[in-house]
Amino acid sequence: MTRAQDIGQIRALLQRKRRDLLETALAARGEAEGLKAQDRDPEFEENAQVELADYTLSSLMETQRRELMQVDAALTRMDHGAFGECLDCGADIPYERLVALPFAVRCEECATEHEERTRLRTPMEAMPSL
Ligand SMILES: [Zn+2]
Repeated sequence: MTRAQDIGQIRALLQRKRRDLLETALAARGEAEGLKAQDRDPEFEENAQVELADYTLSSLMETQRRELMQVDAALTRMDHGAFGECLDCGADIPYERLVALPFAVRCEECATEHEERTRLRTPMEAMPSL
């Protein structure tokens, strides 16, 4: 397969993921609205379980929102022909890595380096050594 075909495969994968996310988000919103309707029902007034379910739903949706943003960002990078190129060294990120991690913006080597750099910036380690 050519690189363009590889990217085309990932695009199909991302678009499917995007559709799934939107469908799940819509279904979850329907459930959330159902819960709110229950809230107004006096019978459910002191129902802690409803609150808990509501909280679970909103955190679920937060995760989905973030994932959706990552999918959209990846698709935008594809439109600009930048998808699959390492942000740091510009090398083509291997197809296998992109399938496993479609949101990856760095090759494995640079990702490891980046992680190490990020770790060094954590407060504990940024403390001046005496
Ligand atoms: Zn790289």
